[in-house]
Amino acid sequence: MLCNLPLGPLSGPGAFADLLLSSFAFFPSVVSELEDFTGIELGYEQTGALRTVSNPKRIPNLEKRMADWQPLGLKMQWLNGDEARQIEPVLSPEVCAAIYAPEEAQIKAPQTVKAFSQAATKLGAKIYSYKEVVGIQQDKDKVTGINTAEGDTFTCNHLILTTGAWTGLYKDWFDITLPVNPIRGQILSLKQPDSSLQHIVFGGSVYLAPRNGTIIVGATKEDVGFDVKVTDKGISWLNHAAMKIVPTLKESQVERAWAGHRPKTPDKHPILGVAPDWKNVTLAVGHNSVGIILSAITGQAIAKLVTTHEVPAVIQPFSLSRFSSDNDNNEEPFQITAKSQ
Ligand SMILES: Cc1cc2nc3c(=O)[nH]c(=O)nc-3n(C[C@H](O)[C@H](O)[C@H](O)COP(=O)(O)OP(=O)(O)OC[C@H]3O[C@@H](n4cnc5c(N)ncnc54)[C@H](O)[C@@H]3O)c2cc1C
Repeated sequence: MLCNLPLGPLSGPGAFADLLLSSFAFFPSVVSELEDFTGIELGYEQTGALRTVSNPKRIPNLEKRMADWQPLGLKMQWLNGDEARQIEPVLSPEVCAAIYAPEEAQIKAPQTVKAFSQAATKLGAKIYSYKEVVGIQQDKDKVTGINTAEGDTFTCNHLILTTGAWTGLYKDWFDITLPVNPIRGQILSLKQPDSSLQHIVFGGSVYLAPRNGTIIVGATKEDVGFDVKVTDKGISWLNHAAMKIVPTLKESQVERAWAGHRPKTPDKHPILGVAPDWKNVTLAVGHNSVGIILSAITGQAIAKLVTTHEVPAVIQPFSLSRFSSDNDNNEEPFQITAKSQ
């Protein structure tokens, strides 16, 4: 699966922009280090992205996004509809404005995960695939091991919880609140039409990402628990939204459709840091729609925290304590409809 390294959730200067942009800037060097070390090609490419609107009433929203992003030092350019079609001729005549960000990139997510795991293995890590952890062993405020569904026990000096959308299920193990819930994302790939799309394009609540003869169209956002079904409704919504932005996709066939879970927190930002009341538990969960782009900074910051016991400044605002009852003004209601990231 091709993945964007999206800057979409940025909403102006602040702690989350610092986190996202640090990872964005760090990615090219991580990619070359991983590729050199493992020999796995990650397909990292700065194809550039266009954020489009087709309804003139939405131009002020796009202008606000541009105004929010400009102080962050990102390269970007405002385009009217015709200028956008000069860069990307397959865009619909209805596209009336766009922000062009030439540095936005894509990467092959499965290859990235494979390269991270192979690199870890080469450096001495042991990975046990398809082993379900069903509980922890503890000595007062320290975790001493984990128990698997097969009845094995693995001892540990330190536990880093990286259980994605499933994290909320494990709050009883630690007797702490872990506000992470699954949000289903359905996604599909279409065959590229003869006149092909060149850039990542966002518009009408979906994104289109071209690569090697296909276009990935993502993604729905649905609060349906751990149901990972692909639905006719989801696929037709994605298809329809994609055709509105690139009308020639009408002739393209759906090659594949699949779904996964985003790990969502109430403020949509990750939880990174020590688990309260535990001496040797670290949390790295809740990455919502940006877990791939945040993987580089998460790995670096969590490694530093575990090895030095210092919390790197870039993750300090993302501790679990921001959701404690004294500090609950970040809450945001869950949204349920089909929407892109
Ligand atoms: C449709 C879709 C499109 C996306 N597009 C992008 C994108 O373009 N760019 C981007 O940056 N992000 C994207 N994301 C988000 C990204 O996939 C997530 O943020 C990321 O996968 C989170 O990583 P994670 O390691 O925290 O969780 P996961 O990748 O979910 O990994 C958690 C792992 O923990 C395992 N686990 C859970 N409980 C247990 C247990 N008890 N025992 C053993 N193992 C356990 C699970 O099996 C799983 O393997 C997308 C997500 C979806 C659904």
